Amino acid sequence: MADVVLVLNAGSSSIKFSAFDGGKASLPLILRGQVEGLYTAPRSLAKDAAGAEIESKSWSDNATFGHEEAIAYLIDLLRSQRGDHRLVAVGHRIVHGGMFFDRATRIDEGVMAKLQTLTPLAPLHQPHNLKAVDIVTRIRPDLPQVACFDTAFHRTQPELAQAFALPAAITDRGVRRYGFHGLSYEYIASVLPTFDAKAARGRTVVAHLGNGSSMCAMVNGRSVASTMGFTAVEGLPMGTRCGSVDPGVILYLLAELKMDAKAIEDLIYKRSGLLGVSGLSSDMRTLLASDDARAAFAIDLFTYRIARELGSLAAASEGIDAIVFTAGIGENSPDIRQRVCERAAWLGAVIDEDANRAGSACISTPSSLVSVWSIPTNEELMIARHTQALLAEA
Ligand code: ADP
Repeated sequence: MADVVLVLNAGSSSIKFSAFDGGKASLPLILRGQVEGLYTAPRSLAKDAAGAEIESKSWSDNATFGHEEAIAYLIDLLRSQRGDHRLVAVGHRIVHGGMFFDRATRIDEGVMAKLQTLTPLAPLHQPHNLKAVDIVTRIRPDLPQVACFDTAFHRTQPELAQAFALPAAITDRGVRRYGFHGLSYEYIASVLPTFDAKAARGRTVVAHLGNGSSMCAMVNGRSVASTMGFTAVEGLPMGTRCGSVDPGVILYLLAELKMDAKAIEDLIYKRSGLLGVSGLSSDMRTLLASDDARAAFAIDLFTYRIARELGSLAAASEGIDAIVFTAGIGENSPDIRQRVCERAAWLGAVIDEDANRAGSACISTPSSLVSVWSIPTNEELMIARHTQALLAEA
């Protein structure tokens, strides 16, 4: 009998899930997948650790099949696939821990009450994350649950890095720079010593480049600055998010173009970034394969802004020993890595083109002053590790 840790990442219309063998220190993956199209065209796909399909399913009771039905299905799936396994805990990805949480925590009523107060800070994600907790509490009240936050890793940042230059009364309402993708950065910090012990003790900038993209400066494995701030829209241009724009642009949209908050939210979260600039796609693979000038411009803007943030983050950490690329684009696109590194030549980064094309972990030359790495992230494993560790403490 093995002890299964279930990891859930619940969004508005999908739930991503992974199951790990929590009885082993290395937490081997058992299965992973997602249920998507909740409330519209619900369907699920589960794969084993090797990526082979275990089960795919769709449901016809469209409008009524939501988060509750999906989680009940997942618990059943685990039971049917792994009859010899016992579900022992659920770890949740929770986008916002605010200033309350600087690490993962066991969930109880007090924790939930605090997390509910943060919903206005992340209205697109927090309610769905918390809904999954409520559902598990209802259908399996016996199961310990753990909250793992995208913000917690950044709470080591100095006060200066977390502040906006706004009046104290506004800051006191929680309008400050929280940072996101913390579970990804924490995972990279945990494995970096095995790749580059010197960089792990020193100053590293990690570029998490996926549909959502951000960068983080770490010193000795701790976050000192990041490109995302109050929401996950600040910083780099992303698949569909604009990244940083002059706040005056928002005032112009409101006052002159008569857009309301909902329309602006839609614009900056869903219609900007690579999609908005190219007018073609949010998918980097599509843009790289295109010969349209607008696709080329969108890619240039993306790499230019990454390189600018690299300089800014290197200033925050007062130097740079290593650059790490991770997430969908960072792990899989030698092209983007090369373009960023070419713009970072002034920092002393020299890319080894063969190693980069070959997909090696180290992609800088031996004489490069800054070592450059491509390292796969694993946010789900990070959540499973926190869940396992907190269970052991209990
Ligand atoms: P999410 O932020 O949703 O977790 P991912 O980390 O999976 O996203 O990243 C998705 C992005 O990675 C997409 O833009 C996709 O085009 C890009 N990507 C995946 N594989 C490649 C590749 N081989 N070359 C370039 N981009 C890639």
